Amino acid sequence: MIKVCKFGGTSMADGMTMRRVKEIVEGDSSRRYIVVSAPGKRFGADVKITDLLFETHKTLAQTGTCGEPFRRVKERFRVIARELEIGIDIEALLSATEEEIVRENNVAFTVSRGEYLAGKIMAALLGIPFVDAKDAVLFEKGKAAGLKSYVRMAESLRGLPRAVIPGFYGADEEGKVSVFSRGGSDVSGAIVARAVGADLYENWTDVSGFLACDPRIVDDPVRIRSLSYKELRELSYMGANVLHSESIFPVREADIPIRIKNTFRPDDEGTDILPASKYRFSGRVVTGIAGKKNFAVIFIEKSLMNTEIGFARKILTVLERLGVSFEHMPSGIDTMSLVIDEAELKDGVREQLVEGIREAVAPDTVRLFENVALIAVVGHGMSRSVGTSARLFEAIARVGVNVRMIDQGSSELNIIVGVDNENYERTVKAVYEEFFKRE
Ligand code: ASP
Repeated sequence: MIKVCKFGGTSMADGMTMRRVKEIVEGDSSRRYIVVSAPGKRFGADVKITDLLFETHKTLAQTGTCGEPFRRVKERFRVIARELEIGIDIEALLSATEEEIVRENNVAFTVSRGEYLAGKIMAALLGIPFVDAKDAVLFEKGKAAGLKSYVRMAESLRGLPRAVIPGFYGADEEGKVSVFSRGGSDVSGAIVARAVGADLYENWTDVSGFLACDPRIVDDPVRIRSLSYKELRELSYMGANVLHSESIFPVREADIPIRIKNTFRPDDEGTDILPASKYRFSGRVVTGIAGKKNFAVIFIEKSLMNTEIGFARKILTVLERLGVSFEHMPSGIDTMSLVIDEAELKDGVREQLVEGIREAVAPDTVRLFENVALIAVVGHGMSRSVGTSARLFEAIARVGVNVRMIDQGSSELNIIVGVDNENYERTVKAVYEEFFKRE
């Protein structure tokens, strides 16, 4: 059994939390490959090491030295090394790193040093080898190369039964460091899991998994014990953020499950994210509810639209020309709607889009509604149970909310409803009540 464990920033925040990490790793001999984030926040107003490193890069660009931000970085690592009493010459490591940052003078290199230093310290604490992600995660054209990266990682780890690998970065063929987008250590962990053919990818964070609903809207929502990759994709796309969205791909292809675990409550079960082959129906109709505000819906109506060949293409060409991406496209016989994130419609694009559609297809009506919130009700169970949508819409009607739009995914995995922004919280609460409290 091989487990790959990724520990996030709060798990790496200081010496005490790193000791917890050591306990967790050593508590299970199958936890063999450890991927770490840079130290994150120790308390609400604290600053993450990665943010200090972004500041360091700015200071370097302006003054030619790493200045105050890097002084703070060094101080945090010094304190950590002292707390842990590890046999590492931290001063030498920090000054060599500072010199390299100045020499490289490259933002990706600078911001990757948080994971690099944290990895060095964690390897010393666990007494196992450190494998630099620079030699193990391959980037091509700014993105991690799929298969080639897994091969390179596997080669770097060959002959090593255990190792620590820093998250968040890799390098291109020339050895130039690149980083993932923020939170990218999740992706690094998934690459390691894939490369070593792990049985499980454990992602250790500061929450005990996914909740069925946003806890800022519903008090104490139930935790999702397990969900499929597809359900996760739907929920995280709609704002349920625990994992970096790209971290699913390497492990999903290889049917490796992910388990979200809480470093601060290691006995909590967490949430399992399972490939289709391992997924078992939980008995719940709905797995989770997620949503986001601030969408616009363009409603287009034209008699006999269904017979007009190329109608949708003409509309989509207008979007393409204006560089606007759309989220959903529910349609009826003579109607079609496009749901677009309002952020896409700045600087006159809104007007150009409506005008462009008018010119392209001469519709009977084209109208744009704004301030629409989307709520995704997600669950494989919905396709198994009759009457789910009736229950959903009755629940929404009971609280007097008008539904502006409905879109049901073709896989029957989700139903998306659009309501006015101001009704968002009320609707989420009502849907949660219906599917989680009444069952
Ligand atoms: N340290 C990086 C960040 O703050 C990457 C990570 O933690 O996953 O975004």
